[in-house]
Amino acid sequence: MKDQQLRALEKEISEFVVKHIGKNPVPGEGSAFAPIFFIGEAAGTNEERTGRPFVGRAGKLLTELIEQQLHMKREEVYITSVVKWRPPDNRKPLKDEVAACMPFLERQISIIQPKLIVLLGNTALNSVLDHEMKISAVHGTVIEKDGRRYYPTYHPAAGLRATRWKRALEQDFIQLALELNK
Ligand code: URA
Repeated sequence: MKDQQLRALEKEISEFVVKHIGKNPVPGEGSAFAPIFFIGEAAGTNEERTGRPFVGRAGKLLTELIEQQLHMKREEVYITSVVKWRPPDNRKPLKDEVAACMPFLERQISIIQPKLIVLLGNTALNSVLDHEMKISAVHGTVIEKDGRRYYPTYHPAAGLRATRWKRALEQDFIQLALELNK
């Protein structure tokens, strides 16, 4: 049931993107029973080409963190981004693009009802929770809002840019594993 609902929603998102944006859709993928729900920023080049989220270099790091720190398989979690297509020139999503996609994200979360929602980077944090918060200030802490539990951390692409952010991501994922098992 949950699975059918989620697959139908992914199809609906894809149809919306094709019809209204005219781009290749990247709705999200993973388990309808995922205890953990990851939210990135927007699709990049590899994602647009394959229709799958986080399949480039940042995706490789995210997959490693899931496998090595959470001891889970990628298929057991759910992975998506705020914006379900690639913005031109990989620029940051515009307010309108975020606004168009938020109802889809809300519905994905409502179907899955994960234990924890991981916000990867400032775009996810600012779109979902609060426009003023900074990932550097709140990463690695659980934030409760409207009965949901959020866990902000750095975007894996930041982890590829600097060792200190990669270390912070690893530390946050170690803590995340503990939170999941609580
Ligand atoms: N970065 C994101 O935020 N999302 C993806 O799917 C890929 C890269």
